[in-house]
Amino acid sequence: MKVGVLALQGDVREHFRALADCGVEAINIRRVSELNQVDALILPGGESTTIAQLAETFGIFTSIQERISAGMPVYGSCAGMILLANHVLDAAPTQRTFGGIDVTVRRNAFGRQVDSFETDVHVAHIEGAPIKAVFIRAPWVEEIGQGVEVLASVTSADGMTHPMAIRQGPLLATSFHPELTSDSRIHRYFVEEVCKSAPVIR
Ligand code: GLN
Repeated sequence: MKVGVLALQGDVREHFRALADCGVEAINIRRVSELNQVDALILPGGESTTIAQLAETFGIFTSIQERISAGMPVYGSCAGMILLANHVLDAAPTQRTFGGIDVTVRRNAFGRQVDSFETDVHVAHIEGAPIKAVFIRAPWVEEIGQGVEVLASVTSADGMTHPMAIRQGPLLATSFHPELTSDSRIHRYFVEEVCKSAPVIR
């Protein structure tokens, strides 16, 4: 299996390392010809507005949407979660997403006071010790459609619980950045469970 990492902006190299830990070959994706070579895609953490704009500039935005509609497995971390969400609150003007997961996410949801923090979380389907979740100006999920599985949630300062790891079929997203830790279990879950359960379509 060949996995692409959308390499327009963000923590691309860190995802390569996590995939290498899982024994998976990865390539940078900037062009449609590169997208056509991969079976699955990772949308990195970074800045969702910049990534979407660059995807339009590089002429790859619509092709990514088409591959998502056709069932390509995609994992998005943080900005990548925003890019996979069908709806975004606190979006920048004219901000677009690829979409695919039937959720509404709120950008920069944790507010300025706690714009970066770490916490240990249990994530469904991930065996063993809790995952160290690193949040950096992270989104959370505010509305969730049928067919979206919540794998982990976080409780905000006001006592509300918000999903922060979700899956809908071949699409997986986390508010946090497993690629910034040495724990590659989320990436392993993506390549070994999420990707394997999806039909191969190019
Ligand atoms: N706040 C960023 C955005 O809106 C996401 C931050 C991140 O990926 N660490 O895209």
